[in-house]
Amino acid sequence: MTGKDPKVYEAIIIGGGPAGLTAGLYATRSRFHTLVIEGALFGGQMTTTDLIENYPGFPKGITGAELSSLMEEQANKFGLEIVSDEAVEVKLQGEQKWVRTHESEYLCDGLIICTGTEYRKLGVPGEKEYTGKGVSFCSTCDGPFFQEKKIVVVGGGDSALTEALYLTKFVNELTIIHRRDALRATKIYQERACTSPKIKFLWNSVVQEIKGTDVVRSVAVKNVRTGEVKEFETDGAFIFVGIVPKTEFIKGVVKMDEAGYIVTNQNCETSARGIFAAGDCTKKLLRQITTAVGDGATAAFALERYLEERE
Ligand code: NAP
Repeated sequence: MTGKDPKVYEAIIIGGGPAGLTAGLYATRSRFHTLVIEGALFGGQMTTTDLIENYPGFPKGITGAELSSLMEEQANKFGLEIVSDEAVEVKLQGEQKWVRTHESEYLCDGLIICTGTEYRKLGVPGEKEYTGKGVSFCSTCDGPFFQEKKIVVVGGGDSALTEALYLTKFVNELTIIHRRDALRATKIYQERACTSPKIKFLWNSVVQEIKGTDVVRSVAVKNVRTGEVKEFETDGAFIFVGIVPKTEFIKGVVKMDEAGYIVTNQNCETSARGIFAAGDCTKKLLRQITTAVGDGATAAFALERYLEERE
């Protein structure tokens, strides 16, 4: 408890990525007194994406930073309030929802969770120790530090391949280390990566340890078929082995699947009345900016209907 009276809103949206900013746009246009709480980065994960090619309306593509700032500008135009803080607890208080952040407490009538996901860690020795010293989870943030270097990218999904392709702008040599012999990524990224003169592949391989001195110098790589472990010299290790939902703060309040994704119906309603969820933090087939904005609009509309029905 902060000791101060909670600030009261009709609608609170936790998370300021594409789902949250779209929900905010719709809620403010419906004239609800609305707040978006975002802990880390307005625009969410798209902010760190170099070029977005699959968001309709931008045939030449658009950078993640540009698209997120346009979305924020559009939501602000209709009076959306935005605060930089992190939600740490949510409770139901009768019909109202109580939200505690690091700095404040809030009460609202309707709540939309749009907290997205964060990158999964490998959990191997050296990963934590060398984060920021050669280990990275963000190529747009750290790529420019690896001019003309030799690096590895771990993973075989869309993130690993799109980030690897972006990193070829800087590095001389890049090896994708993947635990199987087939990639999970969308075919167009596979085609581009496989024809890039700078990208090589190390198949059926897992990183067992990241080693270095003051910075990363090598990774210990195990071939999962033969069991052989080899030291692979590298200046950096970019890790893109999937995502985990950022839903810990609302555990026990709404139903989740075993991985922590929030279970919603087609109207973005969760198991708790008046709490909605949208975007990547929900259990769904496709996690993209396009699907997140659709969810955000649906969640805000469902919230409006919920508040009207309550009256
Ligand atoms: P993902 O699709 O879950 O892929 C994770 C990759 O990491 C898989 O290849 C997986 O191997 C591998 N992996 C998982 N755990 C591992 C471990 N402990 N050690 C080694 N390898 C491991 O995750 P993502 O690539 O981050 O993508 C997340 C979501 O965002 C997806 O829905 C994706 O489509 C979307 N996304 C879209 C775009 C785009 O459209 N431009 C860009 C980025 C992300 P296996 O294949 O063997 O399971």
